[in-house]
Amino acid sequence: MDVKSVLRQFNLRPKKSLGQNFLVDEHALSQIVRAADIMTEDVVLEIGPGLGSLTCHLCDAARHVITVEIDRTLLPPLRSVLADRSNVTLIEGDILRLDPTVLLSHYLTNELPNYKVVANIPYYITSAIIRHLLEADIKPQSIVLTIQLEVAQRIIAQPDDMNLLAVSVQFYGVPRIVHRIPAGAFYPAPDVDSAVLRIDLPEQPRVNVKDVDMFFKVAKAGFGQKRKQLHNSLAAGLPLKHEQIMQALNETGIDPKRRAETLTLEEWGRLTGVVDQLIRDQSIGDQGLGNTFE
Ligand code: SAM
Repeated sequence: MDVKSVLRQFNLRPKKSLGQNFLVDEHALSQIVRAADIMTEDVVLEIGPGLGSLTCHLCDAARHVITVEIDRTLLPPLRSVLADRSNVTLIEGDILRLDPTVLLSHYLTNELPNYKVVANIPYYITSAIIRHLLEADIKPQSIVLTIQLEVAQRIIAQPDDMNLLAVSVQFYGVPRIVHRIPAGAFYPAPDVDSAVLRIDLPEQPRVNVKDVDMFFKVAKAGFGQKRKQLHNSLAAGLPLKHEQIMQALNETGIDPKRRAETLTLEEWGRLTGVVDQLIRDQSIGDQGLGNTFE
């Protein structure tokens, strides 16, 4: 498929504001599809199909492909490019405003309850899209994203170099970079290098915590103040006194002087358990106090 001639035919120009860098390199397209390991029984959600170059490959491999495209001017060329495909559903909309569970429910069955996500997404909404997918009620089995190389590297970071995005993704799944894609594989070519990131999602999160929201509150507080020692950033971001934070860190065997970047997922999990308990004890204590004065 020739992206430039489709654009000409429909009198369209790539919109920078929507991150429209279309994939034109066949080798890169087949690398992405292979990275997704699509089986003939799979249902695939594609975010941002653009002019359908990746969609065609996905339709060849999957049972059904559901695409969500925000730019309504791309729907006529998409319909035309995909005219002879019977296993694709085109949805016009903003993926961040659509619930994947609702989008997918019609296509998933008890026998085949899983779906895979494949997308070449705009750089500026990468984290928002990942979060949206990971927090959905029905999570995908795997996610294959073509994103900015630098963001992919941040997501696969390891202790000593961790960041909140890496902790958030790795809480749910195992990310790895499977390919690098040169800027010349896109039209127009972006200013940055890209990578294909694959995230495999087990059925349960990789860290065993009672309260997922609390896990993220603790991690967010930890990373809230750049390069600060943990005891300071946690005290600034959590509703606990400094001595309670020191107690939580001592109980979990984490040196209070360490920085958030150095913690493992398992350490964040242990810390969450103790912080959670301290906050609960404190709120029970407060309630008790309140009753006494009533
Ligand atoms: N998949 C196509 C390809 O590889 O050639 C297009 C990729 S282009 C980098 C990103 C696509 O995502 C564009 O078509 C853009 O209009 C669409 N898009 C941007 N924001 C979106 C959103 N919030 N929801 C759905 N699609 C979006």
